[in-house]
Amino acid sequence: MLEIKSLKIQIKGIVQGVGFRPFVYSLALQNDLTGWVRNSSNGVEIEINGTPPNLENFIGILRNSPPPLSRIDTLSVDETTTNEYKEFTIIESNSIEGEFLPISPDYSICDDCLRELFDPQDRRFRYPFINCTNCGPRFSIIKDIPYDRPKTTMASFEMCDQCYKEYKNPLDRRYHAQPIACTVCGPQVSLIIDNQIIANGEEAIQISRKMVREGNILAVKGLGGYHLACDATNFEAVDKLRSRKKRSDKPFALMAFSVKKISDYCLVSKSEQLQLESKERPIVLLQSKTMNDLSPLVAPSQNHLGFMLPYTPLHYLLLEPANDNPPVWVMTSGNLSDEPIAYKDQDAFSQLGKIADAFLTHNREIHMRVDDSVIRIVSGKNYLIRRSRGYAPNPVILPLNLPQILATGAELKNTFCLTRDHYAFISHHIGDMENYETLQSFEEAIAHYQKLFRINPELIASDMHPDYLSTRFAAQFAQNMNIQNIQIQHHHAHLAACLADNQYNKDEPVIGLCYDGTGYGTDGAIWGGEILVGNYVQYQRKFHLRYVPLPGGDISIRIPARMALSHLWSYQIDWDYSLPGVAALCMEDKTVLDVQLSRQINTPKTSSMGRLFDAVASLIGVRHKVSYEGQAAIEMEALVDPDETGYYPVILGNGVIDPKPLFEAIIIDLHENIPIQTLSARFHNSIVQLSMDACKLIRSENKINTVALSGGVWQNKVLLENTIKKLKNEQFDVMIHQKIPTNDGGISLGQALIASKYIKNS
Ligand code: ZN
Ligand code: ZN
Ligand code: FE
Repeated sequence: MLEIKSLKIQIKGIVQGVGFRPFVYSLALQNDLTGWVRNSSNGVEIEINGTPPNLENFIGILRNSPPPLSRIDTLSVDETTTNEYKEFTIIESNSIEGEFLPISPDYSICDDCLRELFDPQDRRFRYPFINCTNCGPRFSIIKDIPYDRPKTTMASFEMCDQCYKEYKNPLDRRYHAQPIACTVCGPQVSLIIDNQIIANGEEAIQISRKMVREGNILAVKGLGGYHLACDATNFEAVDKLRSRKKRSDKPFALMAFSVKKISDYCLVSKSEQLQLESKERPIVLLQSKTMNDLSPLVAPSQNHLGFMLPYTPLHYLLLEPANDNPPVWVMTSGNLSDEPIAYKDQDAFSQLGKIADAFLTHNREIHMRVDDSVIRIVSGKNYLIRRSRGYAPNPVILPLNLPQILATGAELKNTFCLTRDHYAFISHHIGDMENYETLQSFEEAIAHYQKLFRINPELIASDMHPDYLSTRFAAQFAQNMNIQNIQIQHHHAHLAACLADNQYNKDEPVIGLCYDGTGYGTDGAIWGGEILVGNYVQYQRKFHLRYVPLPGGDISIRIPARMALSHLWSYQIDWDYSLPGVAALCMEDKTVLDVQLSRQINTPKTSSMGRLFDAVASLIGVRHKVSYEGQAAIEMEALVDPDETGYYPVILGNGVIDPKPLFEAIIIDLHENIPIQTLSARFHNSIVQLSMDACKLIRSENKINTVALSGGVWQNKVLLENTIKKLKNEQFDVMIHQKIPTNDGGISLGQALIASKYIKNS
């Protein structure tokens, strides 16, 4: 007879609202354990009595295969004096003021629910809001904690008897599933045309499918906001959507029912398939096959397509194959260009009324808007481009404990970050902070996160750019709360973000290749081609791209041809009219530009890597005007000849990277009619080469062997993979982003880390 032992277990992480207690309950029964489990203010507590082998087995399973939506951050086990229990029970708990818990993101429908959705015998057959403890909405419907139904947007739906029985039964997979619902008691869909409800339920879904098939544009209410949908193979429909949405070239995301269908259009690797099918269900950027029946307007001049699988039961019902040719839908954010995605019904009707022919809506309110996430696979690993639905508000676990800090991020692709203990709550994607609507959405989200995670910042961190709305907000917030606002250099924040993303917890500085489009420099210039050496505390600017004028500021960002001419002008290279970039501007534009450059009228200086890519893209004839950020570079990357190994020279000296010889060499190539694919490859190789040369110089001088790659330019997969390969060949340790984006969506995390050191050092 084995002796009975008693253990007390404390678990922290995402362990509430994800079926943790019923899981523990069943596991205890299976292992003949007695005792109890309860939710506590900061996790779950368990007390168990049993034989040592049974206890060990229990803990092993708990640790290694907890419920799918849970995330265990810490699990501590202590022996305790034995209390007598007759059975195992789930007991009630009280919360303590100020304590907090991470909250689960919204996850896609699980396999069990999907099976029921299409099972004619099931009572939730074809019910568009089917969910369970392992799937469905969370973050987007939560108004406050603790996570209970009355504090969600499901509060107004009263459970029917059958749902209530499931909700109360610890052995049911809907035990305490807060959004539990069925056809009888839950939310319903309606189809609205011209402010009139045309149909409800299944009929609404069938008419919607038919309307899309016939070339109409449908606004669909999803988990975190509205999508605009149309048939991606219908050229007229896609064209109509582009012109009504006023979005000329930026690629649209696509949705199809299965990976098999997606494979008709794209190459899908094993790891890409895993991401497509993951519970986060991001948009995955995939290499497209050349022959397909999609409208070329889905993603003009790209060799990649962004695909996702359905993630709500409603999406599954909409995309369900009805014949031999399953549909592929454009599923793009329901917004006018630049504005945040619409998520309130009335806003959607007014903002999208002129774009959509019909609205497929429902009466479950969305409390927090959340856009789709975007991911790409780099060297076999996840590389997040946009971290939003399915990821936020999951905290990033930090390599060190931080005080409560609010970091407000940058301007484009804004996210903010709130820290507490070893958690960094990086917000969902807020968007480009260039208008009032986005600022408002940013402010609301900050207040919401502060409430959910009980965070009162003692310090605020922001960008150095005086005109960013996020910086101005920070100044105001600091003043109102009487706390300090630390302004942090943009590229230092990129470097720190990459370090934190890699759990870096040392003081030794690393080399940071911080390449992006725009970041305010300490000298007032616009930085962006920066090679830094630094850690969380400080940085040195070791090399930067030679300054060139950015004539007229933003206008030169929209017109890469102006950047081409600005570079040539700076190096005193003739504007030879036979060059594509020079020929792209009309005579008058060139004259005005020449005057502007010579007299230095509104010509801020820039060392931007993004603008160097723009300049070369225009010079070699890829693109002279852009309609979205990064367009010229993306289209140039798509042209790269992967077999070309040549590169152009640059001069590295006195802390400056001088691309003059690179431009001279490109012009020679252009005159020799070298194909654009070769030119594009040689340019990419040049950036790889100069990065490696600079790293070697720094290593020989400073004995630093670790390189961190951060900044939006590293979304370029060709550049990224080749740089990693070259650096590793030279025995460098390379850090790239993993859990947060390399673009400005990751900046807020870096700001928070740097600010935390400021507290310690002051
Ligand atoms: Zn489920
Ligand atoms: Zn019900
Ligand atoms: Fe940046």
